[in-house]
Amino acid sequence: PEVDALTAESPTLRVLRGTFGYEAFRGAQQEIVEHVVGGGDALVLMPTGGGKSLCYQVPSLVRDGTGVVISPLIALMQDQVDALTELGVKAGFLNSTQDPTQRRDVERAFLAGELDLLYLAPERLRVESTVRLLERGKIALFAIDEAHCVSQWGHDFRPDYLMLSELHQRWPDVPRIALTATATAATRAEIATRLDLGNARQFVASFDRPNIQYRIVPKNNAQKQLLELLQTEHKGDAGIVYCLSRNSVEKTAEFLSANGIEALPYHAGLENRVRAANQARFLREDGLVVVATIAFGMGIDKPDVRFVAHLDLPKSVEGYYQETGRAGRDGLDSTAWLAYGLQDVVQQRRMIDMSEGDLAHRRRLSAHLDAMLALCETIECRRVQLLNYFGENAGPCGNCDTCLNPPESWDGTVPAQKLLSTVYRLQRERGQKFGTGHIVDILLGKETDRVRQFRHDELTVYGIGTELKDTEWRGVVRQLLAQGLLAVEGDYGTLALTETSGEVLGKRREVRLRKEPERTRPARSSRK
Ligand code: ADP
Ligand code: ZN
Repeated sequence: PEVDALTAESPTLRVLRGTFGYEAFRGAQQEIVEHVVGGGDALVLMPTGGGKSLCYQVPSLVRDGTGVVISPLIALMQDQVDALTELGVKAGFLNSTQDPTQRRDVERAFLAGELDLLYLAPERLRVESTVRLLERGKIALFAIDEAHCVSQWGHDFRPDYLMLSELHQRWPDVPRIALTATATAATRAEIATRLDLGNARQFVASFDRPNIQYRIVPKNNAQKQLLELLQTEHKGDAGIVYCLSRNSVEKTAEFLSANGIEALPYHAGLENRVRAANQARFLREDGLVVVATIAFGMGIDKPDVRFVAHLDLPKSVEGYYQETGRAGRDGLDSTAWLAYGLQDVVQQRRMIDMSEGDLAHRRRLSAHLDAMLALCETIECRRVQLLNYFGENAGPCGNCDTCLNPPESWDGTVPAQKLLSTVYRLQRERGQKFGTGHIVDILLGKETDRVRQFRHDELTVYGIGTELKDTEWRGVVRQLLAQGLLAVEGDYGTLALTETSGEVLGKRREVRLRKEPERTRPARSSRK
């Protein structure tokens, strides 16, 4: 094929080389591009950094008319258009940040057939005048970027995306290409249904990111653990630290800065100007750390992000995968590090309980969290588990924490029985529910005010758990939660039994637990 390409360069290769300056297509790019140039619909699943943009940019240039790109990433449109303009591609965008004059210029250029690419925010399509504008011009293709946003099962559903199904009815002859970096089989099916892409050809690239080392550690002092990681393994490296709340973003950025690591905060509560400036500095300068809520990073293309650290548990495996995927786009060794603890589980369960939306919605959130917990507590290869989640089979990677430092498992049946029976007794005999702290105090036989107040020293389970330390009991609780053998509920994170707890209490089920590793820092494999 290489020889053919040189002797008779196809139109797509000519654009790739002539306009974009790349020598060859990567992976499935060529197949996708040819398919769309030929007028076919496509659904493209490719990990972040895989090269999705070229899949619609090249066909837009090869086909007659303008390629219309629907993207939710308004903040990035200007940059994308600037980058294309630099390459000599005629591109424009329409979104809410423009004034009427700017908008009119773009519309005029589009109608005159001068644009190769037109970026549109999805909500633009709700405006009738935009639809009429599109009808008066010539469209080469529709590209629907971040297509998972159409899925209610996905993690960032956008109602505006639901209208995109109408594109096909209005423009039945214009090819459509939907692209996403996060999609399980369920999300993929939903994208195909909602966007009326049932007959589209699906291109599914592997989701493996072999240069990322996945590590998940039990949280004790997240900030200190993070600092150690950065000082010992990522000195001077650029990286992203994700926190759940704005407050912890601020605190963590201050903490790192106070310890000699230049860190910038990024969250929705900051003034736009500050946020934009911090993002611009992160992209431009070397070795900066951004501490952010998940508002940061969508569509950011910084190749040399060496680590992505999570100080709080992500809400779903898809979110985790997408966020960690921002590390190592240049293909060099990078770290995805997550610290997670019992409190994360308690907090997220509470957020799910309090979330608006119907029961089905809360069930979905719950299922997302369960999958994330299973990834955290696995004693198998992290990568195997992660890829399995996306429907891919893989062998142990040899480069994640569990591969490098295989966790031992131990028979936790007896401790599990003790813990569950404490919860059971409180509930059955006293009609009471308590959080982890107090229940562990009972097991350890501590004489706290609360123990005295409730006369819990009179329970038969009082002091039966001295074989484990406080922190070890918390590990047991966390893992029982992850295995669904225990539940946490309400504002106070009280513990409760589940449908399967009885199997353990009735001695019909053995409980295997993961031994918390002594060393939290595995050696990096020599493999590049
Ligand atoms: P995605 O949208 O899938 O995250 P991008 O389209 O932003 O990925 O591409 C990621 C990086 O890879 C970009 O810097 C892009 O220029 C580069 N790239 C994509 N395709 C090729 C190719 N065929 N040859 C060389 N570089 C490529
Ligand atoms: Zn592994």
